[in-house]
Amino acid sequence: MSHAVTLISGDGTGPEITEATRRVLEATGVAFTWDVQQAGAETLEKCGTILPDEVIASIKRTGVGLKGPITTPVGKGARSANVSLRKKLDLYANLRPAKTYQGLRSRYEHIDMIIVRENTEDLYAGVEFQRGTPEQEEMLETIARTTGTHLDHDSAISIKYISVMASRRIVKFAFDYARTNGRRKVTAVHKANIMKFSDGLFLATAHEVAKEYSDIQFEDRIVDNMCMQLVQKPECYDVLVLPNLYGDIISDLSAGLIGGLGVAPGANIGSKYAVFEPVHGSAPKYAGQNKVNPMAMMFSGVLMLRHLGEREAASRLERALSAVIAEGKNVTYDLKSRPDDPTAVGTSQVADAVIEKMQKL
Ligand code: NAD
Repeated sequence: MSHAVTLISGDGTGPEITEATRRVLEATGVAFTWDVQQAGAETLEKCGTILPDEVIASIKRTGVGLKGPITTPVGKGARSANVSLRKKLDLYANLRPAKTYQGLRSRYEHIDMIIVRENTEDLYAGVEFQRGTPEQEEMLETIARTTGTHLDHDSAISIKYISVMASRRIVKFAFDYARTNGRRKVTAVHKANIMKFSDGLFLATAHEVAKEYSDIQFEDRIVDNMCMQLVQKPECYDVLVLPNLYGDIISDLSAGLIGGLGVAPGANIGSKYAVFEPVHGSAPKYAGQNKVNPMAMMFSGVLMLRHLGEREAASRLERALSAVIAEGKNVTYDLKSRPDDPTAVGTSQVADAVIEKMQKL
């Protein structure tokens, strides 16, 4: 049986790591029918949109996407294609494992955490009011009238929006994941001491949901304390569940704990569709240089294989990746002790080494 998968290369270094990942996935022996779709900076120039409707239609057909990173202009221009994709397909759960493998340059050992980030709302809902617009003026007046707080006219506003429905389903997702994958503890992360209504709602909902899972331990942490605890004793944490913004930041922090963005995979999962992609961005300064690490996307491929029910192929690919990391020979610059190490190999050579290892396993 061949699995139909939508393949989106993205831009910047996306096409190189996507090609390397496609090769290792095919080398597992699992059959794929790739529906290749374009999105990103070049697509914006050619088609006037960063995320054509055809990409969404394709994932609705196949149910599964494998995606390279897409550049988002900072502070201006098009809204993020990544955020739109997650919203349009209601990919409400962003799953980001952070695990140490032998041979990675990390200050820590024995980290094995799963970050579950809410993916659809919070400050990422895209509800913003630009300084100096009539809409912003109206919003300032409404805020003054309803709360008595007079905000500065020289300001911009982003709305932090958190609902019971989205909080409930993300916390349930975290507990279900913990239960299915033999994990012991879920930690909800928040700032409910300050944002009593939005984060307070998230926390109260998490406590409610936790009552339905008496077999899994539950605790909560304030996000700033969580950052310190992760740096001091990350091995104490198992599954973390967070609203969108904290989830984004904590998952990059966790990627740093385990040896960098080059090995941090991700999955965006909804009730109907799933899109797998590395945590890192398009690293445009290295585009076209056969330089960056494809392993984060390959590990995302491992998550995709599991999602497709190809568990044996998933664990073979994971074992091959961990063997290449442990050997430390055929790895990119970011996994070497010095970034200018002349023995670092390129993106496609990593794929060759992983394929060779898989053939021996
Ligand atoms: P980035 O992750 O692209 O790169 C930051 C740095 O991390 C790079 O300069 C590089 O030193 C290192 N790095 C990243 N990926 C690596 C890899 N595979 N191998 C080795 N080193 C790697 O972050 P950024 O510079 O903040 O973002 C660049 C663009 O990517 C932005 O436009 C951003 O919006 C976008 N972005 C996209 C996604 C996505 O598509 N899901 C995610 C994050 C950022």
